Amino acid sequence: MQVSIACTEQNLRSRSSEDRLCGPRPGPGAGNGGPVGGGHGNPPGGGGSGPKARAAVVPRTLAPAGALRESTRRATGMKYRNLGKSGLRVSCLGLGTWVTFGSQISDETAEDVLTVAYEHGVNLFDTAEVYAAGKAERTLGNILKRKGWRRSSYVITTKIFWGGQAETERGLSRKHIIEGLRGSLERLQLGYVDIVFANHSDPNSPMEEIVRAMTYVINQGLALYWGTSRWGAAEIMEAYSMARQFNLIPPVCEQAEHHLFQREKVEMQLPELYHKIGVGSVTWSPLACGLITSKYEGQVPDTCRATIKGYQWLKDKVLSEDGKKQQTRVMDLLPIAHQLGCTVAQLAIAWCLHSEGVSSVLLGVSSAEQLIEHLGALQVLSQLTPQTVTEIDGLLGSTPHSKK
Ligand code: NAP
Repeated sequence: MQVSIACTEQNLRSRSSEDRLCGPRPGPGAGNGGPVGGGHGNPPGGGGSGPKARAAVVPRTLAPAGALRESTRRATGMKYRNLGKSGLRVSCLGLGTWVTFGSQISDETAEDVLTVAYEHGVNLFDTAEVYAAGKAERTLGNILKRKGWRRSSYVITTKIFWGGQAETERGLSRKHIIEGLRGSLERLQLGYVDIVFANHSDPNSPMEEIVRAMTYVINQGLALYWGTSRWGAAEIMEAYSMARQFNLIPPVCEQAEHHLFQREKVEMQLPELYHKIGVGSVTWSPLACGLITSKYEGQVPDTCRATIKGYQWLKDKVLSEDGKKQQTRVMDLLPIAHQLGCTVAQLAIAWCLHSEGVSSVLLGVSSAEQLIEHLGALQVLSQLTPQTVTEIDGLLGSTPHSKK
């Protein structure tokens, strides 16, 4: 039997009226009945796993297996989903800061983008210690400070792995997880992040050390949950088993690349983890770094990610035979997009949102206009019928082999 934190009058009051109509929510428990999610909602400062916290846990009816419970905020049209099987409710569209914040776009544009996102109901903001060598976190932190939005109204995720040049400033040793996260918090000017991700798997660090360090940062109140990024399914399972074996905190989700041309992991491997151990998916690069738009048609526009210093690999990709074939396929999607009255980018994002077990799709934008366009994907999602999805699959020929 799965268990869940009881609905108290207080947490019911804090939800929107639409949320309240949603009926029973899935429990934070994983397939084996154990709680999933860092700290089980512990407040920063730790604690929460003692007898008092346990007393609040009661058996509850579950949503149908595998269903991601979704609610819509009427004022913005934004949809919210549980992060994996944890109780954390995240907007199904999140905003990322890679390439853009602290680097490609000005701080003013970054602030515009963040403001548009927040005002349209986006509550998930993703960054990493490595983005623009820490400048992305600093820019994000400065904006959050200026805006003065309630800390409880948004979710900040950062990723630890590549912190600096020294051997000890990289990887997932206990030392770097703790020091790296403290550095991120300083740049973000926050007391805690909501989720800290291990930004890569690390063959040099024993799994037990990683899980213990993640449990430590959660118990210290530096993070509320932890997740993995670019980890294999077997590694995530190992972390989960390790956590269960030593009564530590398991990861709550995996950040994985997912778009029309990169499908295998999110569609074939992660759903099983979601069902069995409650690990959800937060996906990234829904437009394959901008390739799934109609702007690259065998050429590279003057101003775009592919022309930024350090992104020659993207330019090479656009101009490669493979890249050109992908562009042709993107153009093949235009009639479907026209039929639905949307852009190819909106169609591609709606398609990502449609995938099983995906809690949130992280968007990347270099302007507020792009973001406004992407938010329109929410309307497209409601029009995406199984027939349209089959049509897209047929046109792209990118369906994972075992799914065919
Ligand atoms: P993406 O959607 O694949 O690419 C975003 C880029 O595409 C934009 O910056 C913009 O670049 C271009 N673009 C967006 N909308 C467009 C439009 N409507 N028309 C034309 N061009 C458009 O997303 P991403 O930035 O690669 O990834 C999103 C987030 O995921 C990141 O910010 C990061 O937070 C996260 N991420 C995580 C990992 C990980 O390892 N965990 C890895 C990568 C990303 P230009 O305008 O400059 O061309």
